[in-house]
Amino acid sequence: MSGLSKPPLIWLNVFIFLSSFLLAAVVVPWYGMTNGYGLEHGLWFLAAFSFCNLSITAGYHRLWSHKTFEAHWSLRLIFAIGGAFALQNSALHWSSDHRIHHKHVDNNDKDPYSAKRGFWFSHIGWMLREYNTNTYDDYSNCRDLQKDKIVMWQHKYYVPLALATNFGLPLLLGVIYGDVIGMLLVVGVLRLVFSHHSTFFINSLAHIWGSQPYTDKNTARDNAVLAVFTFGEGYHNYHHIFENDYRNGIYWWQYDPTKWLIKSCSWLGLTKKLRVTPKLKIEKAKAKQALSTASRNVSKLPNGKLLNDALNKEFEELMVKLADYYDIKKQVLESKRADLTQKYERSVLKVRYQQMKDDLAAQRKSWEMLIAQYA
Ligand SMILES: [Zn+2]
Ligand SMILES: [Zn+2]
Repeated sequence: MSGLSKPPLIWLNVFIFLSSFLLAAVVVPWYGMTNGYGLEHGLWFLAAFSFCNLSITAGYHRLWSHKTFEAHWSLRLIFAIGGAFALQNSALHWSSDHRIHHKHVDNNDKDPYSAKRGFWFSHIGWMLREYNTNTYDDYSNCRDLQKDKIVMWQHKYYVPLALATNFGLPLLLGVIYGDVIGMLLVVGVLRLVFSHHSTFFINSLAHIWGSQPYTDKNTARDNAVLAVFTFGEGYHNYHHIFENDYRNGIYWWQYDPTKWLIKSCSWLGLTKKLRVTPKLKIEKAKAKQALSTASRNVSKLPNGKLLNDALNKEFEELMVKLADYYDIKKQVLESKRADLTQKYERSVLKVRYQQMKDDLAAQRKSWEMLIAQYA
């Protein structure tokens, strides 16, 4: 794709992105100043925006692209409608692109929205020209999704669904509240532009701006600010290393409403088999990344060799203690579940568990202090 001339423009996409953006930037504020908006406009904007984005994050992304959980057909139907409302192509097409993105991340020839081709390309440029005509209808990497009746129904009726939601819903609200133009502008156009760009930021900004606590082998970043606008998808560095996890923000304090939605739905029986990465694996990845950063930094120092040895020794010790701790934790859980262990044995196990827990805590502390010096 490094030819001299760029592939031809896709005029339909250019028209949709450009006209919606101009309407949102010029006509939406102008109409607000001349006619005014009510509370209902704001509330329905938020509702429609959330519906669209959560259908993409929980449905298109974490359910269909990555299979991180299973969902009841009613929920899949809601996601399919919300995805068409978000106007980001069918779930089948979206997932196919996204699986290639993960498989060939940052590969400028294969990753459909490679961040290495710059902000504009990964944000929106990749959709404006015929970059992927050869593979456009190739869904061979989504054979599993082709068995999902709702996915195939949405794929077949994507255009009528997109029109019905994008024009029909705002129109209906306009009739109810007596302001057809206002609702078309706010719930139709403004919501679409916000929904589009907040999702596109995950391909552009989330590969440029933020930290890399788990891996620096690809451009993906963790970014708490971005997580707010993307319904939790801002923790993209974690996501690219553990893509089968239904969570992107793994800590309770990390803002990830998509995770909360999927989890809450499991209590209602609407989702099941939520997949999470074992804590040991997560902690190992994080320590490995910290070690690699620190090693790089100490190598520039005069006593680099010595420091590097110390770092590695501390790292090895942490690995041993981590493995020990998670192993005994498993034993404790199993003994509780099976309830076969004698009282005496269990109390011994508990003492050892507490000992290892304390050991690991001390080791973590000394590791973090050491790493902090060379981060
Ligand atoms: Zn990505
Ligand atoms: Zn993904």
